[in-house]
Amino acid sequence: NWIDFVKFFNHIIDRFDMMKERDITFKRLLPNKVIFVEVDEDKITQVIDNIISNALKYSPDGGQITFRLKELDGKVEISISDQGIGIPKDNIDRVFQRFYRVDRARTRQLGGTGLGLAIAKEMISAQGGEIWAKSKEGKGTTILFTLPYDPVQEDDWS
Ligand code: ATP
Ligand code: MG
Repeated sequence: NWIDFVKFFNHIIDRFDMMKERDITFKRLLPNKVIFVEVDEDKITQVIDNIISNALKYSPDGGQITFRLKELDGKVEISISDQGIGIPKDNIDRVFQRFYRVDRARTRQLGGTGLGLAIAKEMISAQGGEIWAKSKEGKGTTILFTLPYDPVQEDDWS
């Protein structure tokens, strides 16, 4: 389906913003325009839900989560950054593997199976995009993904 991605992304962020019970600030750096992207809404919702859940789960009180959306050549890039515990450099690519969790002792109390990002990777690949992570231990994590986007197609409707 073709959807207005900025509106769609805002809806998901709103839902977490209303439900969150902790002192974590949400900051949105999203373009103020309509960007039509062809996606499977349910699947991308599941991907974004997992990334935001992780960001909340691994963030301290008082932290900030920043949401960005950028238009690049032939794609949109979505990123979600937190100021949480971070991921050690050596483990950064493994977080997309099934059942992988960085540190059992560290994450045991927080719950989860270690499947969220593996599923996200499958879904983003199926939509023709890419997903990756940037992180600094003790500073925070950014999860980024792209989706194919053709700005010219907007004009076909006019
Ligand atoms: P599930 O999503 O299945 O409930 P999970 O959150 O542990 O479980 P993933 O979402 O796949 O699994 O994440 C894998 C691991 O990557 C996590 O266990 C955690 O160690 C690390 N991780 C993911 N996101 C973050 C983040 N924002 N900050 C720090 N570590 C993270
Ligand atoms: Mg998760």
